[in-house]
Amino acid sequence: MSTKLSDTAREKGIKYFLISYADLFGVQRAKLVPAAAIDGMAKNGAGFAGFATWLDMTPADPDLFAVPDPDTLIQLPWRREVGWLAADPWMNGKPVAHAPRNVLKRKIAEAAGAGLTMKTGVECEFFLLTEDGREVCDTADRQTKPCYDQQALMRRYDVISELCDAMLELGWQPYQNDHEDANGQFEMNWQFDEALVTADRHAFFKYMARSIAEKHGLRATFMPKPFISLTGSGCHVHVSLWKGERNLFEDEGGELGVSELGYHFLGGVINSADALAAILNPSVNSYKRINAPRTISGATWAPNSVTYTGNNRTHLIRIPEAGRFELRLADGAANPYLLQAAVLSAGLDGLSNKRDPGKRLDINMYTEGHTVTSAKRLPMNLLDALRALEHSSVLRDHLGEFVPAYLKLKHEEWNDYARHLTQWERDNTLDC
Ligand code: ADP
Ligand code: MG
Ligand code: MG
Ligand code: MG
Ligand code: MG
Repeated sequence: MSTKLSDTAREKGIKYFLISYADLFGVQRAKLVPAAAIDGMAKNGAGFAGFATWLDMTPADPDLFAVPDPDTLIQLPWRREVGWLAADPWMNGKPVAHAPRNVLKRKIAEAAGAGLTMKTGVECEFFLLTEDGREVCDTADRQTKPCYDQQALMRRYDVISELCDAMLELGWQPYQNDHEDANGQFEMNWQFDEALVTADRHAFFKYMARSIAEKHGLRATFMPKPFISLTGSGCHVHVSLWKGERNLFEDEGGELGVSELGYHFLGGVINSADALAAILNPSVNSYKRINAPRTISGATWAPNSVTYTGNNRTHLIRIPEAGRFELRLADGAANPYLLQAAVLSAGLDGLSNKRDPGKRLDINMYTEGHTVTSAKRLPMNLLDALRALEHSSVLRDHLGEFVPAYLKLKHEEWNDYARHLTQWERDNTLDC
């Protein structure tokens, strides 16, 4: 018999549980439940009005119940009396089909049916800003090439080491932390794992980074492009596909040590790249990171078109070593669950249709990209991407009810944005 959460609470000194789910826009919604009430909640779920969050629901819908997954329990390293639990939204006695964690679990189960397990690692870049979110918090962090800046990294030692200590304690096997390519920007890396584990950790990492930064009087943001002339925050995903203990992407005889099956999976991602952007680059702001002009550091490190290569960071997909590839498309706004579900969908489509990724390109895409006229461009804005998703029979087939629900809310968001009058319009149109 599995241990009751109330027993775990007593053992670990947990007074409250956060029952948490990520909505379609990746916002984490939670109820704070005292340990005395957790066993009932663990069985029936915590009640929410779904429409009050970013889900495709109406105010007349019945209660949404967020049913916590006990395997995800994390005792907050910075506040030990609280235990965090990832939860799955249910309504009318069944999982909400378009809720992100349910979407991912469905895809994972489908892959498991074919004996396949996707394993991934994510690189969550973020900025540390002043509390009001206006400026880089470190006024001395001003180099034009600030990547790996030892001095600036160590001025934030208190925050970075607290985050890394937490990951060590949680058993995530973190292995490096650095200052990234923009002033005020950092990255912390931990070991890859199965897609759902990575997604839960990704969601929790964002919550943890924001919380620990707040504790230090700062603001952590994963916003894709908070400063127009600085490099944006990506969320690269490294991908491999396993059957039991065997990495199916690995093949000594294959090009760059990647198997034929690996290239089909990669071909699926290439094939669906424009539609994937709607999910991996989900914000209006996302399109200021991809397709961006050169930043003051010399490069954006973000892709502009749909190409792949070996160990070269100017393409959409990089094969850094045998047995895996890196998809460099996603940004900090990507929903941790939808990101994994979308990549897995595109990859599975690649396998079933034996998608050909085309030829590898070993050029500097930033300087020579214009010579590759055959390469598809990535969407220029969120509306472009949403339309690509709308037209993607691959993602619609693979992600089912999620796609129309997502498109509905995202189109509403785009329309809301489009109604804004900007200073740029005034500057350029007053004298028309
Ligand atoms: P980069 O060189 O792109 O900056 P990082 O070291 O920051 O790479 O991140 C690499 C990520 O890829 C880590 O999460 C790592 O665990 C993960 N990774 C390594 N090997 C594999 C693999 N075979 N499958 C999936 N992810 C992997
Ligand atoms: Mg109420
Ligand atoms: Mg990295
Ligand atoms: Mg990076
Ligand atoms: Mg990377």
